[in-house]
Amino acid sequence: MAETTSDLVVLGGGSGGYAAALRAAQLGLSVTLVEEDKLGGTCLHNGCIPTKALLHAAEVADATREADRFGIRASFDGVDVPAVHAYRDGVVDRLHQGLRGLVASRGITVVAGRGTLVAADAVRVGEDTHRASRAVVLATGSYARSVPGIELGGRILSSTEALALDHVPERVVVLGGGVIGVEFASVWRSFGAEVTVVEALPSLVPNEDEAIGKALQRAFTKRGIGVRTGARVASVAQTADAVTVVLEGGTELVADQLLVAVGRGPRTADLGYDDVGVELDRGFVKVDETLRTTVPGVYAVGDIVPGLQLAHRGFQQGIFVAETLAGLDPVPVPESSIPRVTYSDPEVASVGLTEAQARAVHGDEVETVSYNLGGNGKSQILGTTGFVKLVRQRGGPVLGVHLVGARVGELIGEAQLAVAWEAYPEDVAGLVHAHPTQDEALGEAFLALAGKPLHAHD
Ligand code: NAD
Repeated sequence: MAETTSDLVVLGGGSGGYAAALRAAQLGLSVTLVEEDKLGGTCLHNGCIPTKALLHAAEVADATREADRFGIRASFDGVDVPAVHAYRDGVVDRLHQGLRGLVASRGITVVAGRGTLVAADAVRVGEDTHRASRAVVLATGSYARSVPGIELGGRILSSTEALALDHVPERVVVLGGGVIGVEFASVWRSFGAEVTVVEALPSLVPNEDEAIGKALQRAFTKRGIGVRTGARVASVAQTADAVTVVLEGGTELVADQLLVAVGRGPRTADLGYDDVGVELDRGFVKVDETLRTTVPGVYAVGDIVPGLQLAHRGFQQGIFVAETLAGLDPVPVPESSIPRVTYSDPEVASVGLTEAQARAVHGDEVETVSYNLGGNGKSQILGTTGFVKLVRQRGGPVLGVHLVGARVGELIGEAQLAVAWEAYPEDVAGLVHAHPTQDEALGEAFLALAGKPLHAHD
């Protein structure tokens, strides 16, 4: 039964938690970081990184199949799943090792085990108590939710089991057409599976601008992915051989696997939070703008805080809390300019308000332009399609940027600066964009919004 004291105790070593720990240590604070599994959390081990590795392998599979288009002779002989996993795990392992090295080099004490909050300034792990003289940071992340009547297990998978699957299913149904659903649908289709996505709302990626959801649906349909939007599940049953999903209206979908991707819930139960007085709202930790919970000295970051469940938001929140505790005066993390990227084929990337959200605030004052990637040289070279859509308040700054097309995730940096800095299209349009890049499409769209399109028909 030992007791330790450090300036900061961080509960959870995922994106939000380790960012808080690294930055605090960099600023001279002593830090104890409690993690029951592996440093790096869901993003590194079961989320962002391994799924993007699979998506890259999927892109290679498609490029091989389509090599003829570019005059290159190649033949696609199939997917070696264990080899794909070896490549993916290699990426994860190298990053994991790098992270462990970084944490060790900053002198952070890592405690392995399940921690619970036992007081406003203490976390217990087994018999040991770890006290914080300045603050405790809660960063326990999220878990895959299901829906009533559908129990995970057997042929019914969450994204974690889907990542571990040692073969490509022949037929798969994906429940939920949000980010996880469309990314897995995209991988499996490229790997040769017959895929159907079932989404309750009227479009895929329903949090995105409506035009983007429609474009993604068209692209998926063209790729041979079945898309059923506005569809509700009546029942799900599995046998030793198959899983059957019956939709309201009677349509029956039979598959080898069902992936449930209907959102992630905050991991806040049985961790002592409510016992200590940390107020929760539907499981999420209530915080103010500075990420303070309702208990003085206890902060929360990442997926347990209501809002976008994205690793890069967690990183920034962790940094913010560390800087606050070190006595700096950091700027709170603005939810409104956090970039979002969905790495399906085609990719979706966005920042700021959708057209509908902008209209809800500014009514008829909203202006939009769309620029088709068809007019972009680099996109022609790569053989990709898609578009850029910009949203502004008439005479005002850029409010939202929405992109769909291969590789557009890489363009989100400039879009993010424009939205976060409340840039006027006239100002951004004056910046020279390198030719030929896909980024030029953004430049063209800004020119169009500023009323002087160069490569577009008036
Ligand atoms: P999500 O909220 O993005 O999507 C869930 C989808 O399921 C929604 O479109 C919803 O309408 C639909 N749905 C809910 N109940 C349903 C039902 N009964 N039948 C049919 N459809 C139903 O959640 P997700 O895709 O599970 O992802 C979880 C979180 O992880 C998200 O916050 C996401 O942003 C994050 N994530 C991000 C990335 C990325 O940034 N590339 C990748 C993966 C996950």
